[in-house]
Amino acid sequence: MSHEMMDWQIPTAVYLHIPFCRQKCLYCDFLSFAGCDSATMADYLAALEHEIQAAGSLPTAQVPLQTIYFGGGTPSLLPPEDLRRLLQALALSFQLTPDAEISLEANPGTLHPDDLKTLRQAGFTRISIGLQASQDHLLRRIGRIHNASDFSKTVRAARAAGFRSISADMMFGLPGQTLDDVADTTDFLLDHQVDHLSYYGLILEDGTPLAAAAARGELSDLPDDETERTQYHLIRRRLADAGLEPYEISSSARSGHRCRHHLVYWQGRSYYGFGLSAHSYLYGQRRANTERMTDYLAAFHHPAEQSSTGQNPFAASSLLETVDREEAMNEMMLLGLRLTDGVSFNDFAGRFGTPLTVRYGKVIDALVDRGLLVRDDRGVRLTCLGLDLANLVFEQFV
Ligand code: SF4
Repeated sequence: MSHEMMDWQIPTAVYLHIPFCRQKCLYCDFLSFAGCDSATMADYLAALEHEIQAAGSLPTAQVPLQTIYFGGGTPSLLPPEDLRRLLQALALSFQLTPDAEISLEANPGTLHPDDLKTLRQAGFTRISIGLQASQDHLLRRIGRIHNASDFSKTVRAARAAGFRSISADMMFGLPGQTLDDVADTTDFLLDHQVDHLSYYGLILEDGTPLAAAAARGELSDLPDDETERTQYHLIRRRLADAGLEPYEISSSARSGHRCRHHLVYWQGRSYYGFGLSAHSYLYGQRRANTERMTDYLAAFHHPAEQSSTGQNPFAASSLLETVDREEAMNEMMLLGLRLTDGVSFNDFAGRFGTPLTVRYGKVIDALVDRGLLVRDDRGVRLTCLGLDLANLVFEQFV
């Protein structure tokens, strides 16, 4: 490993993509397939293991991992034994710190209580459950496969299985969703004593059934922008009142429960990405794996007896960009300003050897004048107005 590599350039985080879902939600444009047969899933699992083994030859593989995140798709659709196998593959090719954060995204109703016990024993420490809304009629409208009571059962079972960190996702800006619905969903989650919450506004992504319905004029009850902003602030305020502090634009957490894996992204640090369409940021390069299942399987296909150690770890990926110093500075601002703590003068100067105010002095002055940023002794961060106009702020750093 190069001695010149700085702390933030040494990857200690792994993202694994599991691209299977029972049924596609009507708003979703993530890469995931509904109704896959078990043969495809088994082939995928084998390829994923081979990709992980191949990555064991990378120069940083000896540095213990601090976070692992199984995302998707619906990772909880894989049998727990398969998830355990993937964790074992990671533990063989890499090392794990004793307090590694190992997260699994799950859909309510996809995990049996015994599965949760197996997963906890396998080493998973954190579970992130997609509720979206506590009103079953809203869940049906967006094509979710579960109801609110499935969520309750999954949370209870996760706690009984020994999970000490439970996260949930909720959405606002849904068609037909009122401010009361948003308040009730937030309270529902607080009643379940979740430790971490992510909240996302609905985006009508091209090519999704919901976007098509909107284009046909069938979503007349979509909340307008102002209502959506009110919903957003209501969620953040209610959570803060209950002890879940906002720490990022879309995330609030109890003390000690911030998602360490996602912080890696927001702090512009390096990470490995394995699986179909997974992205990685390694050695100053952003790469993306192919989005074609057949290509991915072909890239990491091996007869069972043949080891993939020594194989090209980038066999399924292509280079997106080489991040030079200038680009890394911009990214640190863009991503770091998502955090409630913002970007600190010390961190910026420590990383780049240039004071933040020297590199971005004028831009920051202008944003402070417009009331979008605050600057104090520590660094810079978004104001309340800046939160609402975050994209406008971010544009200044690209
Ligand atoms: S469960 Fe998640 S990944 Fe799967 S279709 Fe729904 S939103 Fe998309």
